Amino acid sequence: MPAAATSTHYQELVAHARRSGNLGSIAALVSWDQETYMPAGGAAARAEQSSLIARIMHEANTSAKRGELIAQCEADAELMKAGTETGACVREMRRDYDLATKLPGDLVAALAQAQSETQEIWKHARANNDFKSFAPALDKVMKLTREKASCYGVPAGGELYDALLNEYEPGATAAEIEAVFTPLGQRLSALIADITANGTPPKVDFLHREIPTGLQHAFGQKVTAAFGFDYTKGRLDTTTHPFCSGFGPGDTRMTTRYAIDNFPDAIGSTMHECGHGLYEQGLPKDGDKFGTPLADAVSLGIHESQSRMWENMVGRSRAFWTWALPVAKETFNGVIDDVDLDAMVRGMNTCTPSFIRVESDEATYNLHVMLRFGIERALIAGDLSVNDLPGVWNERFKQLLGLDVPSDAKGCMQDVHWSFGLVGYFPTYTLGNLYAAQFWETINEQIPDLDERMARGDFAALLEWCRTNIHQHGRRYSASELCERATGKSLSADPLLRHLESRVKPAYGM
Ligand code: ZN
Repeated sequence: MPAAATSTHYQELVAHARRSGNLGSIAALVSWDQETYMPAGGAAARAEQSSLIARIMHEANTSAKRGELIAQCEADAELMKAGTETGACVREMRRDYDLATKLPGDLVAALAQAQSETQEIWKHARANNDFKSFAPALDKVMKLTREKASCYGVPAGGELYDALLNEYEPGATAAEIEAVFTPLGQRLSALIADITANGTPPKVDFLHREIPTGLQHAFGQKVTAAFGFDYTKGRLDTTTHPFCSGFGPGDTRMTTRYAIDNFPDAIGSTMHECGHGLYEQGLPKDGDKFGTPLADAVSLGIHESQSRMWENMVGRSRAFWTWALPVAKETFNGVIDDVDLDAMVRGMNTCTPSFIRVESDEATYNLHVMLRFGIERALIAGDLSVNDLPGVWNERFKQLLGLDVPSDAKGCMQDVHWSFGLVGYFPTYTLGNLYAAQFWETINEQIPDLDERMARGDFAALLEWCRTNIHQHGRRYSASELCERATGKSLSADPLLRHLESRVKPAYGM
């Protein structure tokens, strides 16, 4: 087989993928506009546009032509050589193709219908705190989700849940996650008990002073520009539920939200989305990699590690606020001029068990995720029925966070994920925290004066580390390989625990 012919297959495959990449950019633009500037009257037409693009994308990604090209490349030993970029690209395209083609059309349609029905039922049931009216619809979605997992197939030595997890965190297994989550949960519960008994809660009232949203936006732009977000290749806009979308080469859109009396929430969301944005800007989308897995994020967990690192490891640190507090004071026209660095850092590192995941602090957040992981895994395994969900939720919530859940609306019905059949998604949030903390320890070893740099508003070395060790690789390595290559160790709970203890205890005067 002449080499020229085989490389033609690869070039054709890359061109095919690029078309999907461009369709994805259009879909992202249409959806970004819907979440930011679209007038309400455009909703019906927009739904039609979005579904049209989704259908065209699905056709391209599941086409027989795509399958043929992948198979031709796989037959080429030179192309598939271990450790090569081309081999990784074809391997990942095979994975995507199999995921996209393994589900029968009837099941996809049944799931889509059940998801949209269940979401509506969930909205009313949550508003009326009426789990009974939600249970039959949720049961239906869970049955279909189990069916979906069966179509994907149980990985060797694994369980049904792993097949779902694989959609979001390729290669991860429930057993591995459990091995990291269990010690994390135990030690976090102990930390909370310790600070509750022995700590002095920090003052937080000044964090709720009124600051015009325009000034908050200006502060967010200054901070993210200092982090290294390239505003000639991106934007920051306002939305209800913040997100970040890497449209394609040279265009990354961040969004955030503002409340006049909660500037830490706005700056936290902005730094979080900026972490996602820096990853998107660092992926190698130029040249012929755009649209291929080589220019794609590894997994949701790794994407989240980038957002959590800038939001938490950087954004709640004393070093960061040494630089940022004077900038905030100048931007906020005197509103927080009396706040000193100690108060600011302590206020940003509170740890208070509460009922709602999305409102929880950096430490207790992980307990909310563990609760959901254990429950959804049992639901998929058939060890827990939907009708028993509220009782089990409330019992485990008490064990993990020490609180009595007052209602199902503030308990097992608070999140939309399960209505959508999004099972296997929650663990990626805590995996993000775990990866972020493990990267952070290595970064501090390799850049020993990082604190001094951050205190001057210099984040260049930190961003460079992320570019070199994470961003530039796209999906060439799996998440666990990337972690090993970057930190020399497999994922462990210890760095996150050390990080949280080092932040929370001082905030509580311990
Ligand atoms: Zn995120």
